[in-house]
Amino acid sequence: SRHGEYRVLHEADLRDYLAALPEVAARLGGAPASWSISEVGDGNLNLVFIVKGAAGGVAVKQALPYVRLVGESWPLPLSRSHYEYLALTHQARLAPGLVPDVLHHNEALALVVMELLEPHIIMRKGLVAGTTYPRFVDDITTFLARTLFLSSDLAVTAAEKKEGIAAFAGNHALCKITEDLIFTDPYRIVEQNRWTQPWLDAIAAAFREDLDLHVAISRLKLKFLNAPEALIHGDLHTGSIMVTESQTKVIDPEFAFYGPMGFDIGAVIANLLMAYLASSGHKRSPGDRRAFEAWVLETVEGAWTDFVRKFLELWRTEAKGDAYPVTLFGGEAGAARLEAERQVYMARLFQDTVGFSAAKIIRRILGLAHNIDFELIEDPKRRAICEARSLRLARAMMVDAASFRTIGAVTKAARDAR
Ligand code: ADP
Ligand code: MG
Ligand code: MG
Ligand code: MG
Repeated sequence: SRHGEYRVLHEADLRDYLAALPEVAARLGGAPASWSISEVGDGNLNLVFIVKGAAGGVAVKQALPYVRLVGESWPLPLSRSHYEYLALTHQARLAPGLVPDVLHHNEALALVVMELLEPHIIMRKGLVAGTTYPRFVDDITTFLARTLFLSSDLAVTAAEKKEGIAAFAGNHALCKITEDLIFTDPYRIVEQNRWTQPWLDAIAAAFREDLDLHVAISRLKLKFLNAPEALIHGDLHTGSIMVTESQTKVIDPEFAFYGPMGFDIGAVIANLLMAYLASSGHKRSPGDRRAFEAWVLETVEGAWTDFVRKFLELWRTEAKGDAYPVTLFGGEAGAARLEAERQVYMARLFQDTVGFSAAKIIRRILGLAHNIDFELIEDPKRRAICEARSLRLARAMMVDAASFRTIGAVTKAARDAR
């Protein structure tokens, strides 16, 4: 039947479709003809409609069979909507209250109807405006610690873990985008790459010849390919986080799969570092963003340290997985050794986080998809200064990751980069 087939739902069609869903219609309230519908998608891949009625609103996200940013020449499977739905519902169980509620999913239409987040804004926009978010560290570290720990071998049995990997294994087309756009293309000549010319021409060329960097990014790519540590969000930049002063919601997990934890933590840290290094480009008078910049760096530090504290707390209390069998760590000596091993684990995860963070910065400056942190700095020369500082910091973080032993070393390097 028509309802079982994929088609793009434009306004009239969408109204009829939602009217036939009792729970959604009740949430909207009033006659369907009175609902307002507007397409707000500002992302790179999909359509998002905001629908409002007398009683409330919903957000409707529909995947297109191609990449929205590029067009029909770049096909992309509709199944990403299924993985987004799966991830949203999984994350809602692991980290309650930190993702939008899913109200309806239609796999054939590649459509998810979810809670309307209002008056939330995309965090990246708030950061460009110089807004601070006092709840952010606590919320994002709860999200990271719980979604990552509770889907890992530390928390679930090997059988459960492998079922989870299998459930997301088909999302490989989205993984491939990351493998190309983050881990390969910024380091080679590719038509779709761009950077702020002519100022960054020399550094872009240097990065294409830099074998230390090519080894470092290839090690990270290998880790992304072959480390199914946990169910990761896979696209956790500040454009995938919606905020108010008092709430944080993580959206857009269509890139979710079982991958390395440091990729998500690194995404958060990278995007904060870019907000920090772009900040001087948005300055209108001397010192007007100083408090904001101090907050951003505190937030980088808090994002790591609070994550570690929460992750270790879960490990000490919820370690129901098959990794580190308790019978091997009996007695006081065993407990002490296991605690020491937890610290070793976190140190390794920190190294991954630093490397992935660097990869996320470089792709936003030399690759296809840029971000408004830099793009909204109108004067290209001023923008290029911020971007070049970010590239130099990122290169050091990637090639000399081991020299960054603490998150304080990262924020110090960010400060020194300016
Ligand atoms: P894409 O996968 O195309 O990047 P997103 O899921 O990031 O799509 O959504 C694109 C935009 O739609 C977001 O930047 C945000 O402005 C808006 N949006 C998405 N989900 C919601 C929601 N639940 N409530 C309000 N706005 C939303
Ligand atoms: Mg998005
Ligand atoms: Mg995106
Ligand atoms: Mg997306």
